[in-house]
Amino acid sequence: MSLEFSKELDQPIISPTLTAQDSAEVGLRPRLLADYTGQEKAKGNLSIYLEAAKRRNEPLDHTLLYGPPGLGKTTLAGIIANEMGVNIRITSGPAIEKPGDLAALLTNLNPGDVLFIDEIHRLNRVVEEILYPAMEDFAIDIIVGKGPSANSIRLDLPKFTLVGATTRAGQLSAPLRDRFGVSLRLELYTPQELAAIVTRSAAILGMDIAPQGAMEIAARSRGTPRIANRFLRRVRDFAQVCGDGVITQAAADLALNRLEVDQLGLDAIDRRMLTAIIRNYGGGPVGLETLAATIGEEAVTLEDVYEPYLMQLGFLTRTPRGRCVTGLAYDHLHIPYEGQQQFSV
Ligand code: ADP
Repeated sequence: MSLEFSKELDQPIISPTLTAQDSAEVGLRPRLLADYTGQEKAKGNLSIYLEAAKRRNEPLDHTLLYGPPGLGKTTLAGIIANEMGVNIRITSGPAIEKPGDLAALLTNLNPGDVLFIDEIHRLNRVVEEILYPAMEDFAIDIIVGKGPSANSIRLDLPKFTLVGATTRAGQLSAPLRDRFGVSLRLELYTPQELAAIVTRSAAILGMDIAPQGAMEIAARSRGTPRIANRFLRRVRDFAQVCGDGVITQAAADLALNRLEVDQLGLDAIDRRMLTAIIRNYGGGPVGLETLAATIGEEAVTLEDVYEPYLMQLGFLTRTPRGRCVTGLAYDHLHIPYEGQQQFSV
């Protein structure tokens, strides 16, 4: 059975980015702000902005959503459109290759529509420059013709809301960042919030789930709803084949152990990363690139996928000189902690 899983998964099961296994995710997305669990701060502010925009009969200000992958940025963009009663067009930074691609998207919008650009930090420069007047003046300048006879024509656009999502707010250029009126940061979820999300998803998918089963999945999902929903489907497989179909704590424990996800949600790469810092660099500090080369992973993967959760657990700290492992991580890995050790290469 574990063989089938490894064949199916070309990405680690804890990867918070969207993979083919998440195709069932669409039906699980909440459509209303009231059904969107957690993120109380972002949600509280957003509900005020939505209400105010509705009262003024205006589109919502351009909104930037940032935070690690799988936390609900696309879902929130859909909710914004739904709550405002408008359509949403979904695209992503790397998908918009030429200024013409963006112009086509913008000129096809209806008044009030939401244009969602995922991974907005990956827009190329020329395309980004078209976005500035579009966001600020709801107009774009199109060059017609070539050479000396080329002419610039200004095209008016309907008023729309740009919702940009990024995992790396720091990589956004200042002119782009400044054009967002609203900026909302999404945080990793608590196990209680994730348990509520898993319970809701189970109800939608018609699964029988015990509260302890939901909690077990939640506690091991790295604060990320996408991972929790993915685990839920894998646990269901185990519950149906090895049990009576009910998602109990035992079924969740069995399935997640088989997937090599430990009690805190760490997988083999997390453990390799922490162990490498301890064994090869005396607990740190070690630079990200060096660490990535040591364990044979990409630095961006470590930074976007692994570090946020390890830092939330208090297992890893970032210092100006590099990454350090804390005593808590030594305890979790059952490695004796003798204070900061000598840096040895
Ligand atoms: P992102 O765009 O940040 O990568 P998504 O919006 O695609 O994340 O969310 C991933 C999945 O997690 C969605 O299928 C959705 O069902 C679920 N999800 C995310 N946030 C929530 C939430 N607050 N409440 C319920 N489900 C959520």
